[in-house]
Amino acid sequence: SKSLPSDLEIAQSTPLKHIDEIAARAGIPTGRLEHYGKHVAKVSLDVLDDLKDQPQAKYIVITAITPTPLGEGKTTTAVGLAQGLEKLGKRTMLGLRQPSMGPVFGIKGGAAGGGYSQVLPMEKLNLHLTGDFHAVTAAHDLLAAMVDNHLHHGNKLNIDPQTISWRRVIDINDRALRNVVVGLGAAEDGVPRQTGFDITAASEVMVILMLATSLRDLRERLGRIVIGYTYGGQAVTAEDLKAAGAMTVIMKDALQPNLMQTTEHTPVLIHAGPFGNIATGNSSVISDMIGAKTAEYLLTEAGFGSDMGGERFFNVKCRTSGLRPDAAVLVVTVRALKAHSGRFKIVPGKPLAPELLAENPGDVRAGAENLLAHIEIVRSFGVHPIVAINAFPTDHPSEHAAIQEIAESAGARVAVSTHVADGGEGARELAQVVVDACGQDTNFRYTYELEDPVETKFEKVARGIYGADGIELSATARKQLKLFGKLGYGHLPVVIAKTHLSISSDPKRRGAPRDWTLPIRELRLAAGAGYIYAISGDMRTMPGLGEHPSAEKIDINEQGEIVGLF
Ligand code: ADP
Ligand code: MG
Repeated sequence: SKSLPSDLEIAQSTPLKHIDEIAARAGIPTGRLEHYGKHVAKVSLDVLDDLKDQPQAKYIVITAITPTPLGEGKTTTAVGLAQGLEKLGKRTMLGLRQPSMGPVFGIKGGAAGGGYSQVLPMEKLNLHLTGDFHAVTAAHDLLAAMVDNHLHHGNKLNIDPQTISWRRVIDINDRALRNVVVGLGAAEDGVPRQTGFDITAASEVMVILMLATSLRDLRERLGRIVIGYTYGGQAVTAEDLKAAGAMTVIMKDALQPNLMQTTEHTPVLIHAGPFGNIATGNSSVISDMIGAKTAEYLLTEAGFGSDMGGERFFNVKCRTSGLRPDAAVLVVTVRALKAHSGRFKIVPGKPLAPELLAENPGDVRAGAENLLAHIEIVRSFGVHPIVAINAFPTDHPSEHAAIQEIAESAGARVAVSTHVADGGEGARELAQVVVDACGQDTNFRYTYELEDPVETKFEKVARGIYGADGIELSATARKQLKLFGKLGYGHLPVVIAKTHLSISSDPKRRGAPRDWTLPIRELRLAAGAGYIYAISGDMRTMPGLGEHPSAEKIDINEQGEIVGLF
C-alpha cells in the first residue's frame, strides 16, 4: 500500500477553480453569489425562486454503522461518492455541516474529508469560513446578555433566575468555562448567578439555523426560544424579551449557505453545524432545499451512526424540509466491525493494536450484528440501504469480502470504495450502485407521528431504532413531560441525547445490544428549534483540551502559509 501525502499537502497542491465556475456547474446564477475571495461564496436564498422549475434531485443521505471514536469516514465517503457520481457524468451537489473550530485546536484530524476526497480550501473550511459560527455565537450571547440585563433592570417579566436554562456559547474547547458565576462585583455589574458556557455547535441557535426554511421562519423560531420560566411557571421566550429581531439581524447573512468545491471541483454547500449527540447533527434544511434544484444527485451527511444523525435526518430534518430520501449509504470500515466483535479497544491518539490490523475476516464477521442492525434501521424508514466499505490502506481483501457477504446476506447493496487514495475514480463502483438504488421506488415513513404522545415518541425510537425493550423515565423526566404538555409543546418531534459509541445508551456495549431499557434522566425543551430532547447518559456540551492540544503544533511559516493543521 502506497503512503499518501498529508491532507494539508494534498489540499495545498490542488489547483482550485474560481467559485463562479463551480456555481455555473450547479446552475446558480453568478448574480446570486456573495463572494468571499475567489473560492468561497454565499448563495442568496433568492435562488430558490430562480430554480423553482428545475427538476428535483435524487436525495441520498450518508450515514454509518456505530463508529469507533476515530470516525469511520462518512465525510470522506460523501465527498468521494460525489466525485464518483461526477465520473459517471451525473451532475452532483453535496451538502455538509461546517466543522466547529473547537476540535481543530483540540484533537488532530480534519472534518473536511481526507486524501483525494476533501472539501477545499480546507484551511478556510476548518477556520472561520464566512463567520457563520461567529454569528450564531453573537446571536446566542446577545439573548444571554438581554436575560441578565432584564434581571438587572427590575425583572418585570418575573423570571425565576433558578429556572434560566439559556447559557452562553463560544467556539473554543474551554473546560474552565463549563460552570461560571456572572454578575459579580458592584450593584451596577448585574445580578450574580451561576451559569456556564457550551460550545457553539451545542447552541439552540445553531439548530435553528439548521432547520430554518426562510428568513421569516428563522425569525419565528428565534422568537419561540424558551430561556426559563416565571415564578408562576409560564415559559419566558426570546420574543418576550424583545431579543428575536436583533438576533435575526445578526443571523441574516449566516442563513445563506456557503458554496465551495471538492478536490475534483464538485460543488459543495457547507451550512450549519449542530452537535450530533444532543442536537440534530445535520447540515441545513435550506442548503438541501437549494441543493435539490442544482443537480441530478444531492448527497448529504448525517452525523454519527444511523441511530443518531440518521434517525434525526429522517424524523426531524426531512419532516421540516419536506424532501424525501431515495437511498441511504451506510459507511462501514474493517476496523469498526472488528471493534464490534468486542475483542479490541480503540483509544483516540493511540496507534491501533497490531492484532486489530492483522488479516482476520473472522473478527470482521464477529462484529456483523452492528452492520445488520443499521441495515434494519435504514429499512425501518422505507429507504434502500447501500453498504459502502470505506477502504483503508491496512485492510485485506478477505476482510472486504467478509463485509460484502454480510451485507448481501441481508439483501443490501454493497461496494468497496477507495476514494481517499484514488479520489472519484475509486468511488465509481459505489456511485453506480447508488444510481441503481435510486432507480427503485421507496416507501418513506417516519418512526412516529407528531400526534403521538411525547412518551410514545421516545418509546418508538427506543424500540424501533435502538432495539431497546422500552424506556424508563425518571421522576424528574415525568414532571417535565407533564409541564411541556401543559405549556403546549407536546406536538414537537423528539431527539434522544445518548452516546454515539453504541446503539444502546451504554457506550461500552458493542454490536447490537438486546435486553436493555433506555433510561431517560431528564427532558429539555428546544422550543425555538422545535423539539423536545431526552438526556440519556452523560452529555458533554463543552469539550476540554488534552494535555497536548493540536493548537501547540499549528503555526504560520516564513511564506505566511499555515503549517501543522492536519
Ligand atoms: P466521519 O465523517 O464519519 O466522522 P471522517 O470522514 O471525518 O469520518 O473520517 C474520520 C477520520 O478518518 C478522518 O481523519 C479521515 O481523514 C480518516 N479517514 C476516513 N476514511 C479514510 C480512509 N479510507 N483512509 C484513511 N483515512 C481515512
Ligand atoms: Mg463527518
